Amino acid sequence: MEKIHTTEGEVLMEISPLIDFRDKNKFRSELKSVSVPLHANGKTNAHKEKQVELSPIHDFSAKLRQPSVINVLKDYVRWQVEWREGYAQGKSIEEILESAPNHAPLSINLDVTTACNYRCDHCVDMDILNTGIRYDHEKLKSSLSTLMDRGLRTVIIIGGGEPTAYPGFTDIVRHLKARGIKIGVVTNGSRMQKIAEVADVLEKGDWVRLSLDSGNNDTFRAMHKPVSKKVTLDWICSHIPDIKKLNDQFQIGYSFIVVWNDCEANDMQIIDNTDEIYEAAARAKQYEFDYISFKPFLTRAEENNAEVVNLTQQEQALEPVLNKIRTAIDKTKHLEDSNYAVIESTNLRVLENGSYKDFIDQPSTCHMQYFRQILSPLGIFNCPVYRHVPQALLGGKHEYDGEELFQETQKNTLRLIEAFDASRECRDVTCLYNHANWFIEDLINHPEKLETLSASEERHDYFL
Ligand code: SF4
Repeated sequence: MEKIHTTEGEVLMEISPLIDFRDKNKFRSELKSVSVPLHANGKTNAHKEKQVELSPIHDFSAKLRQPSVINVLKDYVRWQVEWREGYAQGKSIEEILESAPNHAPLSINLDVTTACNYRCDHCVDMDILNTGIRYDHEKLKSSLSTLMDRGLRTVIIIGGGEPTAYPGFTDIVRHLKARGIKIGVVTNGSRMQKIAEVADVLEKGDWVRLSLDSGNNDTFRAMHKPVSKKVTLDWICSHIPDIKKLNDQFQIGYSFIVVWNDCEANDMQIIDNTDEIYEAAARAKQYEFDYISFKPFLTRAEENNAEVVNLTQQEQALEPVLNKIRTAIDKTKHLEDSNYAVIESTNLRVLENGSYKDFIDQPSTCHMQYFRQILSPLGIFNCPVYRHVPQALLGGKHEYDGEELFQETQKNTLRLIEAFDASRECRDVTCLYNHANWFIEDLINHPEKLETLSASEERHDYFL
């Protein structure tokens, strides 16, 4: 097991030797000593007007303008303005960090474990699975308490491994719900009894999404390779009506990642499931899921390990595939009613209409890393796209445990906001936060707009 150390010599991160470190020492020194902010180096900080069509769940600038959180946005913008003016006057980042705002991220993705009971060919986290890296459970709870004290609003309990396989899963859910945190859970569906055990505390606005990606048992088992023979698509789906009887207030979704011929991951070709789109949508309705969501397959970019839409094919070659997917999804639409929805991810729509190119044009500074982060047994990271990627590391796995560590990690976040060049690192990522990043960049460049910035409707949706 390889380890990354802090400059003080403490182990900051333990990591599988399979993971490719891209100049980690350079990254650590950049993080500690950055002094030239990206806004000063002449890169793409001119605001661009964007015409984008965003579904409400992906309209992150509207989410940040909700009345209950708009002040967090304004504090951040004012601090960035102060930082840029201070830099022009020759102040060091250390001086300017003193006046930095002190909010926790509003939303985190929480990877509770690296353990998984599936062996999916297409897993983007394959390199870190079942590595035995884990939290101290009490420190994890204490870290979450620190974040909740400082304004955390939503937690998506998700990957790295299978969250319900974590022995402390139900305890973590209850710990968060006791403080009114909105919860999302992304699960492979193999341990639905764990969802049933916490159904009593889940409420409107919470959700559970099952990664199923298929329409029948054979494809399901071939794609996911569950270790246990009893785990079939039928068996998983059969739990949903019973959970609905326990509590029908929270949403349960059927996630279908669309994989087509030529999609590859981990040097393996993956099973094409485009013929099962309708079958899956009909099945989801039959088993009382609230919705099915379709999104395109993502893979890891070789260069920086970022999760990207697979565009190895030329656009012309993709066209027939996208047409086939479109026809199949359109056919599912008649299944929709007041209790069941068919959702197409923004990623799929922008891939289809070619506007994905707008989403890969990032400003130099990614502001969203202040508002949304990843807490994983491998550390704290700045973006879901860069889970477990060294250049995106903000701190060790317990470095939100207590006020002192919170302050240190907060400073690392602000330093990384300056050191991480999104226009370069994320140039191949169809980034759904693109619009929000440009919106914030514009406010920083025109702080007078803060005076007239109006709040959006309060939807109590802070999932970022
Ligand atoms: S620009 Fe987008 S992909 Fe890049 S770090 Fe920020 S949110 Fe993530």
